[in-house]
Amino acid sequence: MKKNKADFFPFYRVSLTKEEIEAVTDTVKSGWLTTGYHVLEFEKRFSAFFNAKYAIAVSSCTAGLQLALQAHGVGVGDEVLVPSFTFVSTVNVILHTGAKPVFVDIEPDTYNISPDDINRKITRKTKAIIVVHYSGLPVKLDQINAVAKKNKIIVIEDAAHAAGSKYLGKYIGSFSNTTCFSFYATKNLTTGEGGMVTTNDSKIANLISMSRLHGISKDAWKRYNKEGSWKYDVMFPGYKYNMTDVQAVLGIKQLEKLELNNKKRNELANLYDSYLKENPYIQLPIVTKESYHSRHLYPILINKYNRDKFIQYMKKQGVGLSVHFIPVHQFSFYRNNFPIKNTDLSVTKDVGKKVVSLPLFPSMTEDDIKMIANLINEYFKNNH
Ligand SMILES: *Cc1c(COP(=O)(O)O)cnc(C)c1O
Repeated sequence: MKKNKADFFPFYRVSLTKEEIEAVTDTVKSGWLTTGYHVLEFEKRFSAFFNAKYAIAVSSCTAGLQLALQAHGVGVGDEVLVPSFTFVSTVNVILHTGAKPVFVDIEPDTYNISPDDINRKITRKTKAIIVVHYSGLPVKLDQINAVAKKNKIIVIEDAAHAAGSKYLGKYIGSFSNTTCFSFYATKNLTTGEGGMVTTNDSKIANLISMSRLHGISKDAWKRYNKEGSWKYDVMFPGYKYNMTDVQAVLGIKQLEKLELNNKKRNELANLYDSYLKENPYIQLPIVTKESYHSRHLYPILINKYNRDKFIQYMKKQGVGLSVHFIPVHQFSFYRNNFPIKNTDLSVTKDVGKKVVSLPLFPSMTEDDIKMIANLINEYFKNNH
């Protein structure tokens, strides 16, 4: 498809169906704007879909990660292992609990947390590991859970990219103790803003369920319906991290589309593979044989040539690219407060310099992929 100079091809475009928009409109018209029936229904369907005993809806994945760490008793004096190659919120939440983040390197082919480096960085103080299924490719959960069990460490999964990803044939969300999903606007399943925590542990589920709403012992929404009363008790000072019915009703519709959308994402990613595989200047993302990939992102590495110039060029050609991620240890706050050794995180530093995400969303067409791949191939043929 020949692109019109005037129209810019964005990195991401949301597409909501008429039915989804109507569901949201109906909920707004119903007058029940906060947590209520639709949140309960979304949680029920989510736990059934992902085969987890409990699903607790929250205001964001960030909120879910913080509550998960705290429910497991992570706090002052503890160390939490975490990749630097992630979104900053994965690391910020560790500080919100009072614990100390310890950065772990990634693997050079999957860009996921390295089980070897986990082993190197475990100390007496290590209480938990947060793993991130980068781009939607599951981490090596069997290896990581085994190491964690041996050392009595909790594993918490940041599955912000991994809604619908599978590991050894099972959905991410039912493996380790606690998994957190994001429904941010650009994620594979969206409620605009929002998140979900899944767990099979009733004690953890209870704690998170209370701490998302002030530490109140009963869901507040029950206070306002027929069965409810004005009475409630507060067990501890919780937070205000609940989800609204307006978000949840969209989430219910999005969950119904998740598998189909991920299938489309996979088809589009395979097309990128086929159009770009002959290009010697870039490294394409891999899929491990244990995995079904949600294809949240399609990250490539620009080997040898300047990544930032390439992004600039593509922008001039009318295509929006993005970078996932600037390694967290390189941000001012973390550089100043949690400096690392020069020799540490060598793969993270290398990948962080080279990585760039190409547009990938379900409403893209084969022509879109071809147009973008052709621009990329031409750039490296002509300019370098
Ligand atoms: C988007 C994202 C988050 C944060 O999700 P929110 O729902 O916006 O809080 C956390 N981790 C990763 C890896 C993400 O990409």
